[in-house]
Amino acid sequence: MERERTERQDRPERSERPAYGNKKARKKVCVFCADKTDYIDYKELSKLRRFLSERGKIVPRRVTGTCAKHQRAMTVAIKRARHLALMPYANEN
Ligand SMILES: [Zn+2]
Repeated sequence: MERERTERQDRPERSERPAYGNKKARKKVCVFCADKTDYIDYKELSKLRRFLSERGKIVPRRVTGTCAKHQRAMTVAIKRARHLALMPYANEN
């Protein structure tokens, strides 16, 4: 009988799984908190670059795991860097 199988489908309950896809399903710790950074310098391009997508957009917090405070500081730093043409506003497309 097929009926039993439908009842049994043990799909994982909502609790432990992230709402978004499995992209970067690592343990998320804000990198700036880990470094104890409280001011994010716009000149630290190597650091900031990892928060840009390949198209030059700022990657959302839920992807990078950056905390709200640092995400804010980081976007400001990126925007400054952009203003100084150290970083792209957007790559093609
Ligand atoms: Zn942080």
